[in-house]
Formats: sequence, structure tokens, C-alpha cells
Amino acid sequence: MFESDASTVAQQANTGALPPASEVSALVREAHSRYASHSEGKVADYIPILARAQAEHFGISLIEATGATYSVGDWQQSFSIQSISKAFVFALVCDAIGHEAVHRRIGVNNTGLPFNSVIAVELNRGSPMNPMVNAGAIATTALIPGDSPSAQWDYIHNGLSRFAGRELRVDELVYESEISTNQRNRSIAELLDSYERLPVDPLDAVDVYTRQCALAVTSQDLAMMGATLADGGVHPISGERIVSAEVARDTLTVLASCGLYERSGEWLFEIGLPAKSGVSGGIVAIAPGKGAIGAYSPPLDPAGNSVRGQRACAYLSRALGLNLFASNAQQQAR
Ligand code: GLN
Repeated sequence: MFESDASTVAQQANTGALPPASEVSALVREAHSRYASHSEGKVADYIPILARAQAEHFGISLIEATGATYSVGDWQQSFSIQSISKAFVFALVCDAIGHEAVHRRIGVNNTGLPFNSVIAVELNRGSPMNPMVNAGAIATTALIPGDSPSAQWDYIHNGLSRFAGRELRVDELVYESEISTNQRNRSIAELLDSYERLPVDPLDAVDVYTRQCALAVTSQDLAMMGATLADGGVHPISGERIVSAEVARDTLTVLASCGLYERSGEWLFEIGLPAKSGVSGGIVAIAPGKGAIGAYSPPLDPAGNSVRGQRACAYLSRALGLNLFASNAQQQAR
């Protein structure tokens, strides 16, 4: 899907700070106007309330590790964070139980299968494989510190709000819509439990997981949360340390291999940045040390990733020279 963007930009690889504000601001506006009228993709409807989203909504935000903020379009439109919560809950769990334990208990390899695959669990003898698919995310949420589901929820709510720099609230309508239709996630949790992979009651883990997915955010919140990871775990505005630099690094590593489900390889090949998407149409892409892009546009590709969001990130990654693997101007140009 990125072929048509090949001629967009040919900039040099960026190994330091981003260009001056006027240039970044113009590029963010250009990313919006370039793709605003693209109509590919399909709005998710397997969670009934998500089908009500407006397909034309399109917001983009970019926040630098310095705190410089740029937003265009429907950046104030709120939507449920969905799978993007997985990245930040994983960071909280890494911070709490450490690198070795998450590696052993969750895993860091891509399943190559859709995010809600049951067969992936079965094929891997109960291993949830990675924290960015539903099985691994439910298993990760189950490892959040707390001696009750409500204590675990408080830990997540507080942690994700600290990443955003403001108190996030749950969209109760989204929570209700998903909790009453999520037989599949309940089945995944029961299956994990049958392999003795969950330290808590499977339905409690699904409930807390469903609530975390229903937290309402904007594209600017996503950019801020991502910029905190880009900034080594320190919130760019408040200066508060949210997670350690090692945890920020480990989280970005898993996003690079697993953030866009079975399309993660193509994404990395084209864009060269760790990222995470969600079925409501959000996406966050992180340029370590530099900043993050948050985008919102509900129509999705078949894997469940925002189509306009991917295109906007691709454009900005190329225009700003953000591809992690480019080491000179020729490589970044296409
Ligand atoms: N809450 C959604 C689910 O569990 C999240 C999926 C997603 O965003 N890919 O199905």
C-alpha cells in the first residue's frame, strides 16, 4: 500500500534533532492534506459500537522529545485506545517484573497470525508469544501488580494516565459494547488458563484488559504517550520519569517486531519505526530520541491497522528521515 508514496520525499537520514518548528509543522499539515481524501479501508464493527465511528475523521499529532507539539485535523476527537494500550501496559509490567521475566512468561516473537487468533495459542502450546496480540496482552495485564482486579485496574489507569500527562477516562459505552460481545477474548483467556499461563482468574484478566482498551484518547494523547517512550521513559512536558530507559527500549523493540500484527514486517520494511495500532483507528509510531506521531482515522486494512494513519506515518517518517535503519541520505531516499 505504500508504493504510491514512493516519490513523496527524499530527505537525508536524521541522526539528531528534528528540523526547525516551521518545517515540521508544514510537513504535519502536508501529511494531513495529502491523505485526507483517501477512502480505502473499512471501519471495525466486530465491537458493535466501533461501527458508529465517522470514517472521515482524521487527526495527526507529532510531539518531539523536547515537548514541541504539532497537531492537525481532528486531533481533539476522542476514541478508544484499544490495542495501543497493550504497548503501555507492557511497559508497566516490564517495569514491575523485569526484562527476564517478561521474556520468559510472555515472549517477544511475532505470531504471524491475526491479533485475536486462538490457534496461535494452541500452535505454541499455550505460549501467548508476544504482548501485542490479544493472548499476550491478556497475559500481560494479568501480571500487573495488585491483589485484586480493581487494584490492577487502578495501577493501569494511573500508569497510562501518567504516560499521557493527564487523567484518561474510560468510555463506558465502548467498555459495555465490548464486554458483552467478547466471547473470543474470554475463550483465549480460558485457553491460556488451561495451560496454566494466568496467575489470576481468566475472566478477571479479560475484564481489566477490556477496560484498558476502552480508555478514551486523542491523537495528541497517543503522540504524548509515544514521545514518553521516545524520551527514554521521561514525560516530555512534565519531566516525570514514567518507566526506566531500559523498559522504554524493551517496549520499542517489541513494537518493532509485533506492533502491527501480521503486517509488522512490511511496516518495518517500509517505515522503519516501532509502532502500535488499534482497531478503533489509532496508531502511534515512535522515533527513539526524537519524538512520536499519533494518528487517528477509523478505516482499517485487513489486519486491523488504520489506512490513513499508516500513510501519514510513512510520509512523515520519510520526510523527516526517521527510519531507524537508514544511515545515509541515499538509503533514506527512495
Ligand atoms: N479490545 C480489542 C480486542 O480485544 C482490541 C483489538 C485491537 O485493537 N486490535 O479485540
